Amino acid sequence: MKNKSTQQDKIFVSEEEKTINWQDLQSEFKKNFGEEVYNSWLKNVTLIKEYNDYLILGVPTRFFRDWIVSRYLDKILELVKNFKLSLSRIEFKIIEDQKSNRVDDFKIEDFNKVTEIKDSILNYNRLNPNLNFNNFIKGTSNEVALSYSKKVCEHTSRYNPLYIYGGVGLGKTHLLNAIGLELQSTKEVMFISAERFMYHFIKSIKKNDMVNFKDFFRKSSVFIIDDIQFIRGKESLQEEFFHTFNSLLEKGSQIIISADRPPLKLDRVQERIKSRLSGGLIIDIDIPDLELKKNIISNRINDIQSQFKEHINISEEVINFIASEAKTNIRELIGVLNRVVAFSRLHKRVLNIIDCKNILKDVFSQAKIVTVDKIQNTVSNYFNISLNDMLSQRRSRPLARPRQIAMFLAKRLTTRSLPEIGRRFANRDHTTVIHAVKTITKLSEKDEEMKKNLVQIKSLLLEN
Ligand code: ADP
Ligand code: MG
Repeated sequence: MKNKSTQQDKIFVSEEEKTINWQDLQSEFKKNFGEEVYNSWLKNVTLIKEYNDYLILGVPTRFFRDWIVSRYLDKILELVKNFKLSLSRIEFKIIEDQKSNRVDDFKIEDFNKVTEIKDSILNYNRLNPNLNFNNFIKGTSNEVALSYSKKVCEHTSRYNPLYIYGGVGLGKTHLLNAIGLELQSTKEVMFISAERFMYHFIKSIKKNDMVNFKDFFRKSSVFIIDDIQFIRGKESLQEEFFHTFNSLLEKGSQIIISADRPPLKLDRVQERIKSRLSGGLIIDIDIPDLELKKNIISNRINDIQSQFKEHINISEEVINFIASEAKTNIRELIGVLNRVVAFSRLHKRVLNIIDCKNILKDVFSQAKIVTVDKIQNTVSNYFNISLNDMLSQRRSRPLARPRQIAMFLAKRLTTRSLPEIGRRFANRDHTTVIHAVKTITKLSEKDEEMKKNLVQIKSLLLEN
C-alpha cells in the first residue's frame, strides 16, 4: 500500500494541484512570525504557482529573496506543510514588475549546472549566485583564505584538499560557494553541507539505494563540503565520508572543505579522516577588524541602493556604530545593518545613533537565551574535554582554564548570581567564581589566544 502511494507521488510530481488557500497561509505567517516580520517581509510574498510537491513564490527583489531564504525558509516550509503535506520545497521567483508575473517562460531548472539530488527538501545544495568572489570583501582576517580560494580555481588539485576553517558567520560558506560558481562552467561541481550529505546518506540507506548514492557523490570533479564538523560522533557517516573522500582523491577530483575548527581539533572524528583532511592546505579565517566591517557595510549599502533604486542615507557615525556593535560575526553585522536599513526605509528618515541603539536593543533582546548548561557544554566541547572533567576538582591547567572560562561566561552572559554559578560548578564557593572572573578578565586583556577563544566561544553560544 505504502509503496503504491509513493509510486503515485512520483507520477504526479510537478503536476499542478491546488489546495492551498494563500490567504489562510498568510494569516498563519502573521501568527507565527509576528506582526513586524510579517508586515516587513512576508506580506509581500505572493503565490505564483502551486504544484503537488513544490510552490513557486514571488518576491519583489533579490535582496528580499535572500533575506527570506536565510531567515524564514525553514519555518515557512514547515507551515506550508501543515496545509499540504506533499510539499517538499519552495522556489522563489523575483517579480521585477507586475506585467511579467507569469510562469510560462520561467524555467526552474536553469539556475545553474550544479548536480543536485532531485528530491532535495530545500535547495540548500544550490550555488547561490550572490555569494561570489566579486562581492567578497577582502580584509586582513580573510585575505589568505580568499587568495587560496582563487588559486584553487586556477589550478585545481594543487592544494588538495583545501581546508578553510573559522568561527560562525565569517565567510566560509561564501568562499566555498564562490569557488563553486567559478568552476561550475568547466567542471562537475558538487556543493553540499555535511548535514545534507548525511540526510541523503540516511535516506539512501532506508531506500536501500546506496549504489546510487555512491555514484552520485563520487562522480564530481570538484567536491565542496561545508561544515564538516557536523560528522563528529557519527560513525557510519564518517565511514561513508572516508570512502567518498578516497575515491574522489583517487580520481583526481578537487576537494574543498570548511569547518569551524582545524582538522586536528575535530574530536570524535576518526584519526584517518583527520589525517586525510590535513593532507592538503589548511587556512583559517579570523574575526574581522573594524576596517573590514566598515567596508562590508558600505558595500552592502551600495548593493541595497542599487536594488531598491533609492538613496539610503546612513551617516558615517551610524556605520561606525554598527561596525563596532557587531563584535564577532559578519552575518550578525549584515543582519544588524539590514534591520537598520529596513527601519529607515519604513519610517522614511535618516537615523541617528539613538534610533540605532533602540533598534539594536530590540535585536539583541530577541537574542537566544544562554544558560549555564549551554555554556558548560559549549566550553567543554570547544576545548575537547569532557563535561565531567571540566566540573571535577582536578586542578591541572587544561581543565582549570576552561572551567574558569565557563564561570566567567556564566557571569557575563546569564543573570545568575555568583553563589548560584558556584553551585552549578559542582558546588564551588562563590569566591572561586570571583577568582575565575578576575583571572579571565585579566587574561583576556593581554593574551591574544584567550581573546580569540572567548570570541569564538561567544559566537558559538550566541549563534546556536
Ligand atoms: P560562515 O559560513 O563562515 O558561517 P557565511 O559565509 O555564511 O559564514 O557568511 C555570513 C554572511 O556574511 C554571508 O551573508 C556572507 O555573504 C557575508 N560575508 C562574510 N564575509 C564576507 C566578506 N568578506 N565580504 C562580504 N560578505 C561577507
Ligand atoms: Mg557556513
